[in-house]
Amino acid sequence: MQTTNQNLLNDVEEVLLMGPGPSMVHESVYKALSVSTLGHLDPYFIQIMDTVKEQLQQVFQSSNRLTIPMSGTGSAGMETSFVNFIEPGDPVLILINGVFGMRQKDVAERLGAKVDTMEYEWGTPVLVDEVEKKLRQNNYKIVAMIHAETSTGVANPVAEVGELVKRTDSLYLVDTVTSLGGMEVAVDKWGIDIIYSGTQKCLSCPPGIAPVSVSDRAVEILRNREAKVPNWYLDLTMIINYWEGEKRVYHHTAPINMIYALHQSLFNVIDEGLENAWARHLKNHKILVSGLEDMGLTMFVDPGCRLPMLNAVVVPDGVDEGIVRSRLRQEYRIEIGAGLGPMAGKVWRIGLMGETCRPENVERILSALKEIL
Ligand SMILES: *Cc1c(COP(=O)(O)O)cnc(C)c1O
Repeated sequence: MQTTNQNLLNDVEEVLLMGPGPSMVHESVYKALSVSTLGHLDPYFIQIMDTVKEQLQQVFQSSNRLTIPMSGTGSAGMETSFVNFIEPGDPVLILINGVFGMRQKDVAERLGAKVDTMEYEWGTPVLVDEVEKKLRQNNYKIVAMIHAETSTGVANPVAEVGELVKRTDSLYLVDTVTSLGGMEVAVDKWGIDIIYSGTQKCLSCPPGIAPVSVSDRAVEILRNREAKVPNWYLDLTMIINYWEGEKRVYHHTAPINMIYALHQSLFNVIDEGLENAWARHLKNHKILVSGLEDMGLTMFVDPGCRLPMLNAVVVPDGVDEGIVRSRLRQEYRIEIGAGLGPMAGKVWRIGLMGETCRPENVERILSALKEIL
């Protein structure tokens, strides 16, 4: 039997998080986590819940009533977005050009959807003309895609595909885990029916919450399901009764302090101004790219569809990418990301998400890489 009881937290170092998430957390958000825990039906906590819903509507640019933070990380948002709307045999189209598109396919297939896909080479975007043709020839209940494909650094044409989906009866489902807070996301304007995000990317909050927003049309479809939602924990028909209405009904205990942290991080984003936050991401991304190119490094993605907050850099021939990453971590206290899946060994992923996205951090990673390489 173990009898030791060690506390390891005193030895956690501050690391500059420049990977694909989590990103740096602002002091004010750490402070929010340590505010006194209230009961999950406390009147003051309910006031905070209502404010968080309004903040999320602002950040999503949506008037969707059903706009709430789900308990769990971004993947819980993904699961919520599919499990509530799919019934076995439903035709679903998923546009795939990276790991997270593959994950959407896996989630939809597990629910018994009839999944059709269009796949694009990793590092290139979804092609709008091809989607148009596909939608003319088929009827889908849901068309799903990833806005910011974090595994490759590609921005997908969510607004353009939205224009096409608007002409059909399909529900439009979009993953904005990496994009929200770092580039434009306009739920109502783009005709998105089901959207999810995460806290630990451009919202700069620790991981643990998945903001979700659902259009009235999609809520109607949810209400008219034939069978119950097959996942109890993520069942929006029950969770709505905790987040809406005069009398709040307990479903599961909300992660109170994480909701505080989200409240604070949304406050920070709205206080900066959405446009200002997007502009900051773009500006620092450009400084980073020109610094990397000055060192002779090449970006993996073409300039026309690069994400500002996730920069995939080609590992030069003869360089062991793992050694560079571990030296960055050991000697410089900087974390960057490795390639994911088929990209392993081929790229580094340098994140400029939320609080990480500051000129001094761009400076730090560029000079560290210069010394190591
Ligand atoms: C990070 C990420 C997810 C998964 O989020 P987790 O918080 O890791 O569960 C989903 N989609 C995209 C595009 C992501 O970048």
